Amino acid sequence: MILGNVCTRRCGFCAVQKGGPLPVDYDEPRRVAEACAALGLKFAVITSVNRDDRKDGGAELFALTIRAIRERIQGCGVEVLVPDFQGSHAAMDLVLEAAPDILNHNTETVPRLYRQVRLGARYERSLDMLAYGDPAAPAGTVSAWTSQGVGPIVARVGPGTGGNPAFSAIDPSLNRPTTDEFTVGAETRPMPGMRVRLAGVMKRQQNRIDLLNTGVPLSSYSLSTIVDGRPASDGGNVLLPVYNRLPSSFGRDQYLLTNNASEEAATFSGVVFSGDIATGPWTFLFGATASQTEGLGANRGFHADENDPGLAGEVFTDPNANTDARGRLFFDRAFTIKLASVYRFAHGVNIGLIARYQDGQPFSRVTVVPDLNQGTDFVRAYPAGDARFSFTGTFDMRLQKGFSAGRARIDAILDWFNLFNLGYEVEERVVTGPEFRYITAIQPPTAVHLGVRVTF
Ligand code: SF4
Repeated sequence: MILGNVCTRRCGFCAVQKGGPLPVDYDEPRRVAEACAALGLKFAVITSVNRDDRKDGGAELFALTIRAIRERIQGCGVEVLVPDFQGSHAAMDLVLEAAPDILNHNTETVPRLYRQVRLGARYERSLDMLAYGDPAAPAGTVSAWTSQGVGPIVARVGPGTGGNPAFSAIDPSLNRPTTDEFTVGAETRPMPGMRVRLAGVMKRQQNRIDLLNTGVPLSSYSLSTIVDGRPASDGGNVLLPVYNRLPSSFGRDQYLLTNNASEEAATFSGVVFSGDIATGPWTFLFGATASQTEGLGANRGFHADENDPGLAGEVFTDPNANTDARGRLFFDRAFTIKLASVYRFAHGVNIGLIARYQDGQPFSRVTVVPDLNQGTDFVRAYPAGDARFSFTGTFDMRLQKGFSAGRARIDAILDWFNLFNLGYEVEERVVTGPEFRYITAIQPPTAVHLGVRVTF
Protein backbone atom coordinates (compact mmCIF):
# COMPACT_ATOMS: atom_id res chain seq x y z
CA MET A 1 0.00 0.00 0.00
CA ILE A 2 1.53 3.27 -1.08
CA LEU A 3 0.99 6.96 -0.32
CA GLY A 4 1.36 6.49 3.42
CA ASN A 5 -0.79 4.78 6.01
CA VAL A 6 -3.29 7.54 6.79
CA CYS A 7 -6.44 7.81 4.67
CA THR A 8 -8.47 10.94 3.96
CA ARG A 9 -11.72 8.96 3.87
CA ARG A 10 -13.58 7.10 6.61
CA CYS A 11 -15.04 3.84 5.31
CA GLY A 12 -16.86 2.11 8.15
CA PHE A 13 -15.47 -1.36 7.44
CA CYS A 14 -11.79 -0.35 7.14
CA ALA A 15 -9.14 -0.45 9.86
CA VAL A 16 -6.72 1.90 8.10
CA GLN A 17 -5.85 4.96 10.17
CA LYS A 18 -7.88 8.05 9.22
CA GLY A 19 -6.97 11.69 9.54
CA GLY A 20 -4.53 14.26 8.19
CA PRO A 21 -2.37 12.60 5.53
CA LEU A 22 1.42 12.39 5.53
CA PRO A 23 3.50 14.28 2.96
CA VAL A 24 4.04 12.27 -0.23
CA ASP A 25 7.33 10.39 -0.08
CA TYR A 26 8.94 10.34 -3.53
CA ASP A 27 11.41 7.68 -2.39
CA GLU A 28 8.51 5.26 -1.81
CA PRO A 29 8.42 3.86 -5.41
CA ARG A 30 12.11 2.90 -5.15
CA ARG A 31 11.59 1.17 -1.79
CA VAL A 32 8.50 -0.68 -3.07
CA ALA A 33 10.51 -1.90 -6.08
CA GLU A 34 13.35 -3.03 -3.75
CA ALA A 35 10.85 -4.89 -1.55
CA CYS A 36 9.36 -6.63 -4.61
CA ALA A 37 12.85 -7.68 -5.70
CA ALA A 38 13.77 -8.92 -2.20
CA LEU A 39 10.59 -11.02 -2.14
CA GLY A 40 11.35 -12.43 -5.60
CA LEU A 41 7.95 -11.33 -6.93
CA LYS A 42 6.96 -11.96 -10.49
CA PHE A 43 3.69 -10.08 -10.05
CA ALA A 44 2.95 -7.20 -7.71
CA VAL A 45 -0.38 -5.64 -6.72
CA ILE A 46 -0.17 -2.01 -5.64
CA THR A 47 -2.91 -0.17 -3.82
CA SER A 48 -3.08 2.97 -1.71
CA VAL A 49 -5.00 4.97 0.81
CA ASN A 50 -7.17 7.75 -0.57
CA ARG A 51 -5.39 11.04 -1.02
CA ASP A 52 -8.17 13.57 -1.49
CA ASP A 53 -5.70 16.24 -0.28
CA ARG A 54 -3.87 15.98 -3.61
CA LYS A 55 -5.12 17.29 -6.94
CA ASP A 56 -4.11 14.09 -8.76
CA GLY A 57 -5.31 11.86 -5.89
CA GLY A 58 -1.84 10.28 -5.77
CA ALA A 59 -1.96 9.10 -9.39
CA GLU A 60 1.57 10.36 -10.03
CA LEU A 61 2.99 8.10 -7.32
CA PHE A 62 1.12 5.10 -8.76
CA ALA A 63 2.77 5.81 -12.13
CA LEU A 64 6.21 6.23 -10.55
CA THR A 65 5.79 2.98 -8.61
CA ILE A 66 4.77 1.00 -11.71
CA ARG A 67 7.82 2.29 -13.56
CA ALA A 68 10.18 1.67 -10.62
CA ILE A 69 9.07 -1.97 -10.33
CA ARG A 70 9.45 -2.52 -14.07
CA GLU A 71 12.95 -1.02 -14.03
CA ARG A 72 14.04 -3.02 -10.99
CA ILE A 73 12.54 -6.42 -11.97
CA GLN A 74 12.45 -7.28 -15.62
CA GLY A 75 9.20 -8.91 -16.66
CA CYS A 76 7.42 -8.30 -13.35
CA GLY A 77 3.67 -7.88 -13.85
CA VAL A 78 1.96 -4.99 -12.03
CA GLU A 79 -1.67 -4.63 -11.09
CA VAL A 80 -2.85 -1.35 -9.58
CA LEU A 81 -5.93 -1.15 -7.40
CA VAL A 82 -6.60 2.56 -7.59
CA PRO A 83 -8.91 4.95 -5.69
CA ASP A 84 -11.57 6.85 -7.59
CA PHE A 85 -9.33 9.98 -7.86
CA GLN A 86 -12.56 11.93 -7.20
CA GLY A 87 -13.62 11.18 -10.75
CA SER A 88 -10.59 12.83 -12.39
CA HIS A 89 -10.01 11.25 -15.79
CA ALA A 90 -6.76 13.22 -16.02
CA ALA A 91 -5.50 11.42 -12.90
CA MET A 92 -6.55 8.07 -14.37
CA ASP A 93 -4.67 8.94 -17.57
CA LEU A 94 -1.50 9.54 -15.50
CA VAL A 95 -1.69 5.98 -14.12
CA LEU A 96 -2.55 4.43 -17.46
CA GLU A 97 0.35 6.12 -19.23
CA ALA A 98 2.58 3.93 -17.07
CA ALA A 99 0.78 0.93 -18.62
CA PRO A 100 -0.07 -1.33 -15.66
CA ASP A 101 -0.84 -4.91 -16.66
CA ILE A 102 -4.15 -4.75 -14.82
CA LEU A 103 -6.14 -1.71 -13.74
CA ASN A 104 -8.49 -2.46 -10.88
CA HIS A 105 -10.87 -0.41 -8.78
CA ASN A 106 -13.10 -1.66 -5.97
CA THR A 107 -16.70 -0.59 -5.59
CA GLU A 108 -16.60 -2.32 -2.17
CA THR A 109 -20.35 -2.45 -1.53
CA VAL A 110 -23.81 -2.09 -3.05
CA PRO A 111 -25.10 1.43 -3.92
CA ARG A 112 -27.66 1.40 -1.07
CA LEU A 113 -24.89 1.23 1.55
CA TYR A 114 -22.54 3.80 0.04
CA ARG A 115 -23.70 6.72 2.15
CA GLN A 116 -23.46 4.67 5.32
CA VAL A 117 -20.14 2.89 4.90
CA ARG A 118 -18.17 4.65 2.14
CA LEU A 119 -18.12 8.26 3.19
CA GLY A 120 -16.67 10.49 0.48
CA ALA A 121 -17.21 7.92 -2.29
CA ARG A 122 -19.99 7.70 -4.85
CA TYR A 123 -21.04 4.49 -6.56
CA GLU A 124 -21.78 6.20 -9.91
CA ARG A 125 -18.35 7.82 -9.86
CA SER A 126 -16.65 4.44 -9.37
CA LEU A 127 -18.62 3.01 -12.29
CA ASP A 128 -17.64 5.99 -14.40
CA MET A 129 -13.96 5.39 -13.65
CA LEU A 130 -14.28 1.71 -14.56
CA ALA A 131 -16.14 2.51 -17.75
CA TYR A 132 -13.62 5.21 -18.69
CA GLY A 133 -11.06 2.47 -19.18
CA ASP A 134 -7.84 3.22 -20.90
CA PRO A 135 -7.91 5.99 -23.51
CA ALA A 136 -4.52 4.84 -24.75
CA ALA A 137 -5.68 1.26 -25.28
CA PRO A 138 -6.24 0.37 -28.90
CA ALA A 139 -9.76 1.17 -29.97
CA GLY A 140 -11.03 -1.31 -32.49
CA THR A 141 -12.13 0.50 -35.58
CA VAL A 142 -14.44 -1.16 -38.06
CA SER A 143 -13.99 -0.06 -41.65
CA ALA A 144 -16.15 -0.79 -44.66
CA TRP A 145 -14.54 -2.94 -47.32
CA THR A 146 -15.07 -1.43 -50.74
CA SER A 147 -13.97 -2.41 -54.22
CA GLN A 148 -11.06 0.01 -53.74
CA GLY A 149 -10.01 -1.73 -50.51
CA VAL A 150 -10.44 -0.45 -46.96
CA GLY A 151 -13.12 2.24 -46.90
CA PRO A 152 -14.25 4.74 -44.23
CA ILE A 153 -14.40 3.95 -40.52
CA VAL A 154 -17.99 3.00 -39.86
CA ALA A 155 -17.86 2.07 -36.19
CA ARG A 156 -15.62 2.13 -33.20
CA VAL A 157 -15.49 -0.44 -30.44
CA GLY A 158 -13.65 -0.54 -27.09
CA PRO A 159 -11.65 -1.07 -24.97
CA GLY A 160 -9.97 2.27 -25.75
CA THR A 161 -12.18 5.29 -25.24
CA GLY A 162 -10.02 7.70 -27.18
CA GLY A 163 -10.31 10.09 -24.22
CA ASN A 164 -14.06 10.47 -24.77
CA PRO A 165 -15.72 9.82 -21.38
CA ALA A 166 -19.11 9.42 -23.07
CA PHE A 167 -17.82 6.54 -25.19
CA SER A 168 -18.66 3.87 -22.63
CA ALA A 169 -20.73 3.83 -19.46
CA ILE A 170 -21.97 1.35 -16.89
CA ASP A 171 -25.60 1.54 -15.82
CA PRO A 172 -25.63 2.40 -12.07
CA SER A 173 -28.63 0.10 -11.60
CA LEU A 174 -26.90 -2.83 -13.28
CA ASN A 175 -28.01 -6.09 -11.68
CA ARG A 176 -26.04 -9.28 -11.62
CA PRO A 177 -27.41 -12.12 -13.74
CA THR A 178 -29.23 -14.84 -11.85
CA THR A 179 -29.96 -18.48 -12.56
CA ASP A 180 -32.81 -20.43 -11.00
CA GLU A 181 -32.26 -24.16 -11.19
CA PHE A 182 -34.52 -27.02 -10.23
CA THR A 183 -33.21 -30.59 -10.27
CA VAL A 184 -35.07 -33.70 -9.29
CA GLY A 185 -33.95 -37.30 -9.52
CA ALA A 186 -34.87 -40.82 -8.47
CA GLU A 187 -33.12 -44.17 -8.39
CA THR A 188 -34.77 -47.55 -8.16
CA ARG A 189 -33.68 -51.22 -8.07
CA PRO A 190 -36.52 -53.08 -9.80
CA MET A 191 -34.73 -56.43 -9.52
CA PRO A 192 -31.53 -57.76 -7.98
CA GLY A 193 -28.50 -56.50 -9.88
CA MET A 194 -30.38 -53.73 -11.71
CA ARG A 195 -30.36 -49.98 -11.02
CA VAL A 196 -32.27 -47.34 -12.95
CA ARG A 197 -31.88 -43.58 -12.49
CA LEU A 198 -33.92 -40.73 -13.85
CA ALA A 199 -33.14 -37.06 -13.30
CA GLY A 200 -34.61 -33.87 -14.66
CA VAL A 201 -33.23 -30.37 -14.61
CA MET A 202 -34.71 -26.99 -15.45
CA LYS A 203 -32.75 -23.73 -15.52
CA ARG A 204 -33.69 -20.17 -16.14
CA GLN A 205 -31.10 -17.43 -16.60
CA GLN A 206 -32.22 -13.84 -16.38
CA ASN A 207 -30.89 -10.33 -15.90
CA ARG A 208 -28.29 -10.90 -18.52
CA ILE A 209 -25.68 -8.16 -18.82
CA ASP A 210 -25.92 -6.61 -22.26
CA LEU A 211 -24.04 -4.05 -24.24
CA LEU A 212 -26.20 -1.41 -25.94
CA ASN A 213 -25.02 0.99 -28.61
CA THR A 214 -26.93 4.03 -27.34
CA GLY A 215 -25.19 6.37 -29.79
CA VAL A 216 -26.48 4.46 -32.80
CA PRO A 217 -30.14 3.49 -32.21
CA LEU A 218 -32.29 1.54 -34.66
CA SER A 219 -33.35 4.81 -36.32
CA SER A 220 -29.75 5.08 -37.60
CA TYR A 221 -30.44 2.25 -40.06
CA SER A 222 -32.62 1.90 -43.11
CA LEU A 223 -34.44 -1.41 -43.40
CA SER A 224 -34.58 -3.45 -46.58
CA THR A 225 -34.79 -7.15 -47.46
CA ILE A 226 -32.65 -9.67 -49.26
CA VAL A 227 -33.69 -12.90 -50.93
CA ASP A 228 -32.14 -15.94 -49.28
CA GLY A 229 -31.97 -18.75 -51.84
CA ARG A 230 -32.36 -22.07 -50.05
CA PRO A 231 -32.99 -25.55 -51.41
CA ALA A 232 -36.70 -26.10 -52.18
CA SER A 233 -36.73 -28.86 -49.55
CA ASP A 234 -35.75 -26.24 -47.03
CA GLY A 235 -38.35 -23.63 -47.79
CA GLY A 236 -37.02 -22.19 -51.04
CA ASN A 237 -36.48 -18.46 -51.34
CA VAL A 238 -37.31 -16.37 -48.29
CA LEU A 239 -36.96 -12.65 -47.60
CA LEU A 240 -34.67 -11.66 -44.75
CA PRO A 241 -34.51 -8.21 -43.11
CA VAL A 242 -31.27 -6.29 -43.55
CA TYR A 243 -30.24 -3.12 -41.71
CA ASN A 244 -28.16 -0.64 -43.67
CA ARG A 245 -26.36 1.86 -41.44
CA LEU A 246 -26.77 5.50 -42.38
CA PRO A 247 -23.41 7.21 -42.96
CA SER A 248 -24.49 10.09 -40.69
CA SER A 249 -24.17 7.67 -37.74
CA PHE A 250 -20.59 6.60 -38.48
CA GLY A 251 -18.31 7.16 -35.49
CA ARG A 252 -21.20 8.02 -33.14
CA ASP A 253 -20.95 4.77 -31.21
CA GLN A 254 -21.51 4.97 -27.47
CA TYR A 255 -21.81 1.88 -25.36
CA LEU A 256 -23.78 1.21 -22.20
CA LEU A 257 -23.37 -1.92 -20.09
CA THR A 258 -26.80 -2.65 -18.67
CA ASN A 259 -29.56 -5.24 -18.21
CA ASN A 260 -31.92 -5.04 -21.13
CA ALA A 261 -35.36 -5.35 -19.55
CA SER A 262 -36.91 -6.41 -22.86
CA GLU A 263 -34.80 -9.56 -23.06
CA GLU A 264 -36.57 -12.79 -22.20
CA ALA A 265 -34.88 -15.29 -19.90
CA ALA A 266 -32.79 -18.12 -21.34
CA THR A 267 -34.17 -21.53 -20.46
CA PHE A 268 -32.75 -25.01 -20.28
CA SER A 269 -34.62 -28.22 -19.62
CA GLY A 270 -33.38 -31.76 -19.87
CA VAL A 271 -33.70 -35.33 -18.63
CA VAL A 272 -31.01 -37.90 -17.94
CA PHE A 273 -31.90 -41.59 -17.94
CA SER A 274 -29.23 -44.08 -16.93
CA GLY A 275 -28.76 -47.42 -15.25
CA ASP A 276 -26.87 -50.67 -15.09
CA ILE A 277 -27.63 -54.38 -14.95
CA ALA A 278 -25.24 -57.02 -13.60
CA THR A 279 -26.09 -60.62 -14.36
CA GLY A 280 -23.55 -63.41 -14.15
CA PRO A 281 -20.42 -62.41 -16.06
CA TRP A 282 -22.24 -59.57 -17.89
CA THR A 283 -22.64 -55.96 -16.86
CA PHE A 284 -24.70 -53.64 -19.05
CA LEU A 285 -24.70 -49.86 -18.72
CA PHE A 286 -26.90 -47.41 -20.50
CA GLY A 287 -27.40 -43.66 -20.47
CA ALA A 288 -29.38 -41.20 -22.53
CA THR A 289 -30.01 -37.47 -22.31
CA ALA A 290 -32.53 -35.25 -23.99
CA SER A 291 -32.41 -31.50 -23.61
CA GLN A 292 -33.63 -28.29 -25.08
CA THR A 293 -32.34 -24.78 -24.60
CA GLU A 294 -33.66 -21.47 -25.74
CA GLY A 295 -32.04 -18.10 -25.42
CA LEU A 296 -30.52 -15.12 -27.14
CA GLY A 297 -27.06 -15.85 -28.54
CA ALA A 298 -24.70 -12.95 -27.84
CA ASN A 299 -23.07 -13.01 -31.28
CA ARG A 300 -23.76 -14.41 -34.70
CA GLY A 301 -22.25 -17.88 -35.10
CA PHE A 302 -22.41 -21.10 -33.17
CA HIS A 303 -19.21 -21.46 -31.14
CA ALA A 304 -19.16 -21.18 -27.36
CA ASP A 305 -18.30 -17.47 -27.43
CA GLU A 306 -20.95 -16.75 -30.01
CA ASN A 307 -24.15 -18.67 -29.45
CA ASP A 308 -24.14 -18.19 -25.68
CA PRO A 309 -26.66 -16.09 -23.72
CA GLY A 310 -24.18 -15.22 -20.96
CA LEU A 311 -21.93 -12.86 -22.89
CA ALA A 312 -22.20 -9.16 -23.69
CA GLY A 313 -21.89 -9.44 -27.44
CA GLU A 314 -23.12 -7.66 -30.54
CA VAL A 315 -26.77 -8.62 -30.30
CA PHE A 316 -27.82 -5.15 -29.08
CA THR A 317 -25.13 -3.16 -30.84
CA ASP A 318 -25.89 -4.29 -34.38
CA PRO A 319 -29.49 -5.01 -35.49
CA ASN A 320 -28.20 -7.43 -38.13
CA ALA A 321 -26.96 -9.57 -35.23
CA ASN A 322 -30.37 -9.46 -33.58
CA THR A 323 -32.41 -11.08 -36.36
CA ASP A 324 -33.30 -14.64 -35.29
CA ALA A 325 -30.88 -14.34 -32.39
CA ARG A 326 -33.19 -16.29 -30.10
CA GLY A 327 -32.90 -20.00 -30.59
CA ARG A 328 -31.14 -23.06 -29.26
CA LEU A 329 -27.80 -22.46 -27.62
CA PHE A 330 -24.29 -23.77 -28.08
CA PHE A 331 -24.37 -26.36 -25.31
CA ASP A 332 -27.55 -27.96 -26.63
CA ARG A 333 -26.93 -31.44 -28.07
CA ALA A 334 -30.63 -32.43 -28.08
CA PHE A 335 -29.90 -36.15 -27.64
CA THR A 336 -27.01 -38.29 -26.49
CA ILE A 337 -27.07 -42.06 -26.12
CA LYS A 338 -24.45 -44.32 -24.57
CA LEU A 339 -24.64 -48.12 -24.38
CA ALA A 340 -21.91 -50.27 -22.89
CA SER A 341 -21.41 -53.85 -21.82
CA VAL A 342 -18.62 -55.71 -20.05
CA TYR A 343 -18.10 -59.50 -20.03
CA ARG A 344 -15.85 -61.00 -17.38
CA PHE A 345 -14.12 -64.19 -18.49
CA ALA A 346 -12.18 -66.47 -16.18
CA HIS A 347 -8.56 -65.68 -15.26
CA GLY A 348 -9.05 -61.88 -14.99
CA VAL A 349 -9.89 -61.32 -18.67
CA ASN A 350 -12.56 -58.65 -19.39
CA ILE A 351 -13.95 -57.38 -22.63
CA GLY A 352 -15.98 -54.17 -22.94
CA LEU A 353 -17.88 -52.58 -25.79
CA ILE A 354 -19.29 -49.08 -25.89
CA ALA A 355 -21.45 -47.35 -28.49
CA ARG A 356 -21.96 -43.58 -28.33
CA TYR A 357 -24.10 -41.20 -30.29
CA GLN A 358 -24.20 -37.43 -29.90
CA ASP A 359 -26.71 -35.47 -31.87
CA GLY A 360 -25.62 -32.33 -33.71
CA GLN A 361 -25.12 -28.89 -32.30
CA PRO A 362 -27.61 -26.23 -33.30
CA PHE A 363 -26.47 -23.33 -35.39
CA SER A 364 -27.88 -20.88 -37.85
CA ARG A 365 -26.83 -20.68 -41.43
CA VAL A 366 -26.10 -17.15 -42.59
CA THR A 367 -26.58 -15.07 -45.69
CA VAL A 368 -23.85 -12.69 -46.75
CA VAL A 369 -25.10 -9.22 -47.67
CA PRO A 370 -22.73 -7.17 -49.83
CA ASP A 371 -22.82 -3.46 -50.62
CA LEU A 372 -24.19 -2.04 -47.37
CA ASN A 373 -22.97 1.36 -46.21
CA GLN A 374 -21.10 -0.39 -43.40
CA GLY A 375 -19.56 -2.79 -45.92
CA THR A 376 -20.31 -6.46 -46.42
CA ASP A 377 -22.33 -7.84 -43.53
CA PHE A 378 -24.25 -11.00 -42.82
CA VAL A 379 -27.54 -11.99 -41.24
CA ARG A 380 -28.84 -15.20 -39.76
CA ALA A 381 -30.89 -17.08 -42.28
CA TYR A 382 -32.27 -19.68 -39.83
CA PRO A 383 -32.89 -19.46 -36.10
CA ALA A 384 -30.31 -21.55 -34.24
CA GLY A 385 -31.77 -25.02 -33.90
CA ASP A 386 -33.47 -25.10 -37.31
CA ALA A 387 -30.18 -26.46 -38.60
CA ARG A 388 -27.80 -28.77 -36.76
CA PHE A 389 -24.12 -28.59 -37.33
CA SER A 390 -22.52 -31.98 -36.74
CA PHE A 391 -23.06 -35.28 -34.97
CA THR A 392 -20.86 -38.12 -33.81
CA GLY A 393 -21.29 -41.88 -33.51
CA THR A 394 -18.62 -44.41 -32.48
CA PHE A 395 -18.15 -47.99 -31.31
CA ASP A 396 -15.17 -48.58 -29.03
CA MET A 397 -13.83 -51.76 -27.40
CA ARG A 398 -11.54 -52.57 -24.47
CA LEU A 399 -9.86 -55.93 -23.76
CA GLN A 400 -8.24 -56.18 -20.36
CA LYS A 401 -6.28 -58.92 -18.56
CA GLY A 402 -5.33 -58.54 -14.91
CA PHE A 403 -2.48 -60.18 -12.98
CA SER A 404 -1.47 -60.08 -9.35
CA ALA A 405 2.19 -59.49 -8.58
CA GLY A 406 2.74 -59.44 -4.83
CA ARG A 407 0.71 -56.54 -3.46
CA ALA A 408 0.47 -54.86 -6.85
CA ARG A 409 -2.09 -55.46 -9.57
CA ILE A 410 -1.07 -55.26 -13.18
CA ASP A 411 -3.59 -54.79 -16.01
CA ALA A 412 -2.69 -55.18 -19.65
CA ILE A 413 -5.15 -53.09 -21.68
CA LEU A 414 -5.97 -52.98 -25.37
CA ASP A 415 -8.27 -50.14 -26.46
CA TRP A 416 -9.75 -50.14 -29.92
CA PHE A 417 -11.41 -46.86 -30.83
CA ASN A 418 -13.90 -46.45 -33.66
CA LEU A 419 -14.11 -50.19 -34.23
CA PHE A 420 -15.97 -50.00 -37.55
CA ASN A 421 -14.07 -46.97 -38.84
CA LEU A 422 -17.23 -44.87 -39.04
CA GLY A 423 -17.00 -41.43 -40.61
CA TYR A 424 -20.45 -40.01 -40.16
CA GLU A 425 -19.45 -36.61 -38.86
CA VAL A 426 -20.75 -33.98 -41.24
CA GLU A 427 -21.17 -30.26 -41.19
CA GLU A 428 -23.98 -28.29 -42.61
CA ARG A 429 -22.82 -25.55 -44.90
CA VAL A 430 -22.62 -22.33 -42.92
CA VAL A 431 -23.52 -19.98 -45.76
CA THR A 432 -26.93 -20.62 -47.26
CA GLY A 433 -27.38 -21.85 -50.80
CA PRO A 434 -28.28 -25.05 -52.60
CA GLU A 435 -25.48 -27.04 -50.97
CA PHE A 436 -26.44 -28.19 -47.53
CA ARG A 437 -24.66 -31.12 -45.91
CA TYR A 438 -21.23 -32.38 -46.69
CA ILE A 439 -18.40 -34.06 -44.83
CA THR A 440 -15.94 -31.47 -43.59
CA ALA A 441 -14.84 -33.00 -40.33
CA ILE A 442 -13.96 -36.67 -40.25
CA GLN A 443 -14.33 -38.70 -37.11
CA PRO A 444 -11.00 -40.00 -35.84
CA PRO A 445 -10.39 -43.28 -37.69
CA THR A 446 -9.82 -46.67 -36.12
CA ALA A 447 -7.00 -46.51 -33.59
CA VAL A 448 -5.54 -49.17 -31.31
CA HIS A 449 -3.81 -48.33 -28.02
CA LEU A 450 -1.87 -50.84 -25.94
CA GLY A 451 -1.20 -50.03 -22.30
CA VAL A 452 -0.17 -51.40 -18.93
CA ARG A 453 -1.61 -50.16 -15.64
CA VAL A 454 0.06 -50.94 -12.34
CA THR A 455 -1.99 -50.42 -9.17
CA PHE A 456 0.00 -50.44 -5.91
S1 SF4 B 1 -10.75 4.68 1.05
FE1 SF4 B 1 -9.80 2.66 1.23
S2 SF4 B 1 -8.16 2.94 2.71
FE2 SF4 B 1 -9.48 4.72 2.91
S3 SF4 B 1 -10.89 4.20 4.55
FE3 SF4 B 1 -11.89 3.61 2.64
S4 SF4 B 1 -11.32 1.45 2.31
FE4 SF4 B 1 -9.94 2.29 3.88
